[in-house]
Amino acid sequence: MPKLSSAFLTNTLVCVAIITIIVVAATRPMFTNVSAAQPKLRWYKGNTHTHTLNSDGDSTPDEVVRWYREHQYQFLVLTDHNYLTSVDGLNALHGADEKFLVIKGEEVTDEYQKKPIHINSLNPAALVKPQGGTSVLDAMQRDVDAIRAARGVPHINHPNFYWAITADDLRQLQNNRLFEIYNGHPQVNNLGGGGVPGLEEMWDIVLSSGKLLYGIAVDDAHHFKRPWDANASTPGHGWVYVRAESLSPTSIIAALDRGDFYASTGVELTEYEATAKQITITIKETKYSKYRTQFIGQNGKVLQELTANPATYAVRGNEGYVRAKVIESNGQSAWTQPIQVR
Ligand SMILES: [Zn+2]
Ligand SMILES: [Zn+2]
Repeated sequence: MPKLSSAFLTNTLVCVAIITIIVVAATRPMFTNVSAAQPKLRWYKGNTHTHTLNSDGDSTPDEVVRWYREHQYQFLVLTDHNYLTSVDGLNALHGADEKFLVIKGEEVTDEYQKKPIHINSLNPAALVKPQGGTSVLDAMQRDVDAIRAARGVPHINHPNFYWAITADDLRQLQNNRLFEIYNGHPQVNNLGGGGVPGLEEMWDIVLSSGKLLYGIAVDDAHHFKRPWDANASTPGHGWVYVRAESLSPTSIIAALDRGDFYASTGVELTEYEATAKQITITIKETKYSKYRTQFIGQNGKVLQELTANPATYAVRGNEGYVRAKVIESNGQSAWTQPIQVR
């Protein structure tokens, strides 16, 4: 990821902040997660779903962290199955102020009648045991509540893995804001099939019901030593850019939980702003690619598709919700978080 000069970034953020403050002050926000950028906010790239030898990964925590640091990520959450890998020693080795951070986590790994229910617990105070339940939804709810009780932030993983979790489950689940709309593991059925909706379609079904969910992209990396193997789950496929005050566990995870991030499989944005009147997306273009930006609303309808950069959408006020997807000409995407239009 090429870096912007910090002076440019600072100037841009200051300008955007001033403009945003003026616009937000002049209009009443119509949706719930308007995020007025402040001068101190910065974008950080990270992956929130990763395995090591402490569960079914093929590499030590040190090797795994090293891969992400060497590939220009700023943070990594280690999420072994039902195991809370210690990060203190890893941060002593690889952590650096505002450069790199390892955050503790766990993939709470539950099931109901052989349907896998996997829910990440980000930055919890303690290990959470899978809680079980009387249905897929009941087990999900008990796990989410146990994660919240341990002061972790939950995210629902790969709903279409063994076709376990439905849009209806996601719609009814409480106390959860995040779910995976892209998972880099090769057997998780991101696109759906055989009559089962893909993860992005599920997202629109849930959003259209009035429930707010944020879409996250992750690697779910297990295998760092067999890059030639199409059945391996290798790193570097899906990630998030989080807008936070600093590179600290509480700041990063709180920004995720309030939806101040976008998900990506390769497309990078230089800025993203949503006010009461418009949404503006600025793409960091590469010279080999072309881009189109779709603004999507109720029932997954494409409200507008633009090729301009920046791409600006004027909010009409009756969309229900608006989210944006940037599609790159080689298949990479970025997804911004939905804003609910009351
Ligand atoms: Zn899993
Ligand atoms: Zn996993």
